[in-house]
Amino acid sequence: MKKEKGDRLMDELDSLNVRYIKGVGEARAKSFERLGVSTLRDLVSYFPRAYEDRTLFRDIGSLIFGENACVCAIVATQPRLSHVRKGMDLLKFRVVDGADSMDVTFFNQPYRRDSIHLGESFVFYGRVGGRIGRPEMVNPVMEPENAAGQMTGRIMPIYRLTSGLTQNFVAKAVRSGLDACKELYPDILPARVKEENNLCSAGFAYENVHFPKDTGSLEIARRRLVFEELFALSAAMRLMRGRRMVQSGIMLPSCDMKPFYDSLPFALTGAQRRAVEEAIADMTDGDTPMNRLLQGDVGSGKTVVAAACCYAAWRAGRQSAFMAPTEILADQHFKSLSAMLGSMGMNIDILKGSMTAKQKREAREKLASGATDLVIGTHALISEDVEFSDLALVVTDEQHRFGVDQRSELTKKGDRPHVLVMSATPIPRTLALIIYGDLDVSIIDELPPGRQKVDTFAVGEDMRERINRFIRKLVAEGRQVYIVCPMVGEPDAEHEPDAPENIKAAEEYAKKLRDEVFPDLRVAIIHGKMKPSAKDQTMTSFAAGETDILVATTVIEVGVDVPNAALMVVENADRFGLSQLHQLRGRVGRGKHKSYCVLFQGGGGDIAKERLKVMCETNDGFKIAEEDLKLRGPGDFFGSRQHGLPEMHIADIAGDMDVLKQAQDAAKRVIDEDPDLSDPENRRLNEHIERMFGKLASRLN
Ligand code: ADP
Ligand code: MG
Repeated sequence: MKKEKGDRLMDELDSLNVRYIKGVGEARAKSFERLGVSTLRDLVSYFPRAYEDRTLFRDIGSLIFGENACVCAIVATQPRLSHVRKGMDLLKFRVVDGADSMDVTFFNQPYRRDSIHLGESFVFYGRVGGRIGRPEMVNPVMEPENAAGQMTGRIMPIYRLTSGLTQNFVAKAVRSGLDACKELYPDILPARVKEENNLCSAGFAYENVHFPKDTGSLEIARRRLVFEELFALSAAMRLMRGRRMVQSGIMLPSCDMKPFYDSLPFALTGAQRRAVEEAIADMTDGDTPMNRLLQGDVGSGKTVVAAACCYAAWRAGRQSAFMAPTEILADQHFKSLSAMLGSMGMNIDILKGSMTAKQKREAREKLASGATDLVIGTHALISEDVEFSDLALVVTDEQHRFGVDQRSELTKKGDRPHVLVMSATPIPRTLALIIYGDLDVSIIDELPPGRQKVDTFAVGEDMRERINRFIRKLVAEGRQVYIVCPMVGEPDAEHEPDAPENIKAAEEYAKKLRDEVFPDLRVAIIHGKMKPSAKDQTMTSFAAGETDILVATTVIEVGVDVPNAALMVVENADRFGLSQLHQLRGRVGRGKHKSYCVLFQGGGGDIAKERLKVMCETNDGFKIAEEDLKLRGPGDFFGSRQHGLPEMHIADIAGDMDVLKQAQDAAKRVIDEDPDLSDPENRRLNEHIERMFGKLASRLN
């Protein structure tokens, strides 16, 4: 196709390296690269992470203590520089507007003295301090009144930084970047979509998302960009789904499931049965391989549904692989699936990182030769040297723990095998559609009979003695107890439960519990950094009832199944997300014993109290997930790391739910009408999807 001038400029968005942007240069380009910014397109799409509203002007007389405001005032005293102590300079002067005055103080900025003269007018922006009748600003932003408007009196973008870059510099670079776009801003929206959804022009959006004229303009700009991002994501997911649909896979012959059902020690719940039927139908009917998400709350019995699928594959003479996110979980699945399926004659094996080289080699050989019918394992399953003789089914447990690409790595080991992913992270429906847009969904919305609600209590330190007595009482009755140990450091440490300081805290805490609090009970500890063999031993002996109390980091969060455990104590519960607490609570109440969950609130004040209250009020994972989303946003709830999709630049998948719905509808229409995006009107969208998702899409196919 002949390229037009506009196209050439559009190409520049991707071909122009930031180092050629006015004022950037080599060194800063390197810093930008660390932020994922290397082209002009990246630069103008490097959206602020927040804004600071500096539009509020006040007279000195009406300043409010603690508020941020702009003040326009005249320098009324000569600035005085004093050395308070070694390494500490103080520059002080007084400014007035009409009858009122304000003190201005700068720490360690002596050079300012020369640019501040009596009688000159400045705009100051800062937090109002001082005392009544004597307001003060410390280290305010200041601009001469006649040149004001760059740093004061406006909404300022705040960017995520890295070493070598300052706010000011990024803002300037973005400004140059916008100018370099020469009116041709990134824009992938077909004209009709823009019109139908009342979206502003790309130019308005890019200008105002970085340098908003006012809050209204920012809203309008943001809505367009969020829409665009979610539209592209939805369209890409739909496209992948469409491509997958036309791929045929090897279908299994229909299979009599009765022997499997008969061998189980329990009857399936209606919801389990439905899920099994849906999955078996996927694998046996039609000609598209199964690609199904099985969602069910903690303890709803997802494993047996997977077992049914493995059984069907085996009856067809083919292999299955079952991948779990942790070794503990892999071991546990190995045991329970061996019990369920081994007795029927299936050959079941395990493959995990901690096995010796010889064990691993043997397991691999058995897989490659076809001697193994079902292999359970960790990431080790996707390592390059693992080969299957005839892989027909891939199951991934706790799918949110893996990226999309890890899941597909395993899929590639077979000839378009059937795929079942399981997740207990209950995701609101719209969110699920975006994240798992390329999957069909089965939901187990019913717990096995006889499950009792886990009684949950949020308590403070004052209850410590009572809880300890309660622990003794339960242990005396033969029950077992989990204590999830204190998280230390930043709340972010939650994503790193096995960070050294958390391990140390857990170890010290376990020691204290063992030596001082419960010297007469059997206390063990488990955390992610332990040698796999030691972890294994600890878990096995806990499962065998040889330990009364298991002190743990959140390694036990997912999947662990010890039905005799009846109490989950979580220290510093306020530091955990609600969905995570729900997962932890799911470790108890798995057997016939009445079970409890005690959440110690370590801090976090009223908000934390409110959140923990939600835990006490409901056992419904979906409700909890929704509250969690509301209270914390999806950033915490669902890091991109976990769902494996490209990182969102601007959209907040939960917060922008309305826009998401509109973007999805628009994407559906566009793809339905032009399934291979060949219409010139959709060319930009097509290019964009290739650019963003090309790698991902080719992996999924
Ligand atoms: P999850 O969905 O959290 O992975 P599991 O598959 O680990 O749940 O099942 C939780 C427990 O419930 C297991 O001990 C399992 O044997 C048991 N279970 C599963 N289905 C049923 C059922 N229909 N009736 C009774 N117990 C069941
Ligand atoms: Mg499970």
